[in-house]
Amino acid sequence: LRSKLPDVGTSIFSVMTQLAQEHGAINLAQGFPDYDPPQSLLDAFARHVSTPGHQQYAPMPGLPRLREAISQKTAHVYDVPAPDPATEITVTSGATEALYAVLAAVVHPGDEVLVLEPAYDLYGPAIRLQGGVPVYVPLTLPDFRPDWNRVAEALSPRTRLLMLNTPNNPTGATLTPEDLDTLAGLLRDTDTLVLSDEVYEHMVFDGQPHHSVLQHAELRERAFVLSSFGKTYHATGWKVGYCVAPAALTTELRRVHQFVTFSVSTPAQHALADVLPDTSLYETLPAFYQQKRDLFRDLLALTRFRLLPVQGAYFQVADFRELAPDTDDVTFARRLTQETGVAVVPISAFYHNGQDHGLVRFCFAKQEATLRAAAARLLAS
Ligand code: PMP
Ligand code: GLN
Repeated sequence: LRSKLPDVGTSIFSVMTQLAQEHGAINLAQGFPDYDPPQSLLDAFARHVSTPGHQQYAPMPGLPRLREAISQKTAHVYDVPAPDPATEITVTSGATEALYAVLAAVVHPGDEVLVLEPAYDLYGPAIRLQGGVPVYVPLTLPDFRPDWNRVAEALSPRTRLLMLNTPNNPTGATLTPEDLDTLAGLLRDTDTLVLSDEVYEHMVFDGQPHHSVLQHAELRERAFVLSSFGKTYHATGWKVGYCVAPAALTTELRRVHQFVTFSVSTPAQHALADVLPDTSLYETLPAFYQQKRDLFRDLLALTRFRLLPVQGAYFQVADFRELAPDTDDVTFARRLTQETGVAVVPISAFYHNGQDHGLVRFCFAKQEATLRAAAARLLAS
């Protein structure tokens, strides 16, 4: 068989989770919480999953009542005109499907797609499956800021799409309104579209707001903006997300979405529509995750890991070179999992060419007891 992705192995998240299970390691590798969704959401799901009439296909773009709730939530959170639920909001099978469907909808063979690296692992392969050419621009260490001059140099008449991820997985860095203004200026006279992956929109710390592309009137005109209920409601296993985009872009997205999955779990959508108006469920998230970040950083301060700043998302990037100066990050991550009993992800997995900066990623979306147990193992090693 002639593989379409001959150089791609199993996703690092599956690999590290399996290794963690084999070695009884605490899994701070794959990003998912070890606590459950709000009880109101579980109750709502239980109700709808046993409601006659809620068991068949949902409408292709998503349940109207969920799209309406997303529209109102977007207007409320970002103080922007409400996106039209009929033409500008599509419910997807996680942000994963939204990413794939957007790329399949807009990327023609030979089109370039600009990706800031390190980047979430599916971006590159999903672009290549469309015949697209990923053009990688490195984020600048140590704070993983975009270098807009390098972005400007990388843009070409063939750049179909530019991918943003704020707050960023794996780095935790966030974009500022000035970043968005600069980007809008760079794209002003081009046909380049924007995909803004904002699945960690409710995890931004230190009193800072999340700056959404939806708040930038000019960028919003050319952008697909993605979110994930998996992140917001501690429900990564539900696989429900959504995309907000102008009507013309949404039309193209839905052309693909209808043939990728057609529609998304009906009872899950009803349950999410029930809880979405409860603003307290997401307005408390920044403080909830900031507390975890601060606890984890305090615990790790006693180790020889050097911690990079975290402005958002639920990941801590740490430099391990003082602990293991001559070890590559993949070997280090494996050893930490097998010998110390704490699983992490090597940051090289987020670079298309496996660049190694001596960094690993810890997920701190864990109960306090889990974070303490992991820290105890790290300290003892
Ligand atoms: N984008 C980023 C940056 C992510 O971290 C994730 C979650 N791992 C996704 C997309 C996928 O989201 P979902 O679980 O909703 O498919
Ligand atoms: N987004 C999660 C992470 O970055 C995991 C997603 C996955 O397992 N595919 O760890």
